[in-house]
Amino acid sequence: MNKVRHVLGISGGKDSAALAIYLKNLYPLMDIEYYSSDTGKELDETYNLITNLQVYLGKSIEILKAAENSHEDPFDHFLSMYGGFLPSSNARWCTKKLKLEPFEKYVGNDPVVSYVGIRGDEDREGYISHKTSIQSIFPFRRNIWSEDVISKFLANDKIEENLTWLDAAGVGSRKNLFQETLLKPLSISYHEHQKLNQLLDIGVAETNQLIYSYLKTTDYPLGRDDSYFPLLQNEENLVRDDIFRILEESGVGVPAYYKKINFEVDGKTSSYARSRSGCYFCFYQQKIEWIWLYEQHPEMYRKAMTYEKDGYTWMQNESLEELITPDRMRQVKNDYAKKMEKVTSKQSNFLLDILDEEEGIGCASCFI
Ligand code: SF4
Repeated sequence: MNKVRHVLGISGGKDSAALAIYLKNLYPLMDIEYYSSDTGKELDETYNLITNLQVYLGKSIEILKAAENSHEDPFDHFLSMYGGFLPSSNARWCTKKLKLEPFEKYVGNDPVVSYVGIRGDEDREGYISHKTSIQSIFPFRRNIWSEDVISKFLANDKIEENLTWLDAAGVGSRKNLFQETLLKPLSISYHEHQKLNQLLDIGVAETNQLIYSYLKTTDYPLGRDDSYFPLLQNEENLVRDDIFRILEESGVGVPAYYKKINFEVDGKTSSYARSRSGCYFCFYQQKIEWIWLYEQHPEMYRKAMTYEKDGYTWMQNESLEELITPDRMRQVKNDYAKKMEKVTSKQSNFLLDILDEEEGIGCASCFI
């Protein structure tokens, strides 16, 4: 059997970078491989972050490039293959070709535990590989396990078996509480997440140990790994502010595009930023982020414009050329400034709360 590999994908965004730092600080003995999928279209800030991170980790980050023998950037190579058809949320060939396929080639058929930086304040699962040899773990969440593991562990036909792990899980005086909860069958009115949360409320480390015991009976990579898995003891739940703190305290820093920049519109002052890493022309960005790109990185905006031809545009119903007419820019900025005024929490120096709400959508799930 191949050795189980532990990998962490660096997207160039804040969460995966903070996760790498967090795991290194807490569990320095874990042997983690770092990789990053380069589309060839990232902002300079992303490349700077990767450089800083390598210094901090004392390890190199393997850069995965799709179509590595092509004379073009990975994105341009596949764009030509797709006849200039720009990717969109409905046809996201870029994620598949530039991120997923290089990742699956990198890990091959090795059993792999992949650490994913989804935070405790996010409600999404991220990418779950169709390959059973890849298992995702979410160290920032109280529930570190992926949905598929939880579903199998909590299945009603596993109840009796799960009870047999209790003594080895070190549940001590809470044995009765665990027993009672484990014995409750799932039903229409008693869902998986309710049962899981009840178990976690009784004891996180003990619940982790129960799930780990179950995994030992399966082909999941962690079930086949004989080395000690320190995350079983981790009871933390990290949210957005923790991520910024980790990045700042480490000295790696927060990518500059998260920092708020003031702008004026019709006598009012508001501020904007970019909420995501990834390609500078990512179709998931909001209109105000496109305007940020136009005003902060005009050369990149112009490059993004050159991709819009033959009727293809990055946004539905509006081209980049139309977006930067003075009236339209004013309108977008005004709409955005109004939304911002309604946001009550304005504590973060780095990220606009409105943008952050959207951050988890789409684009982030292309970072595995
Ligand atoms: S960042 Fe956006 S454009 Fe780039 S690969 Fe991901 S989804 Fe596609």
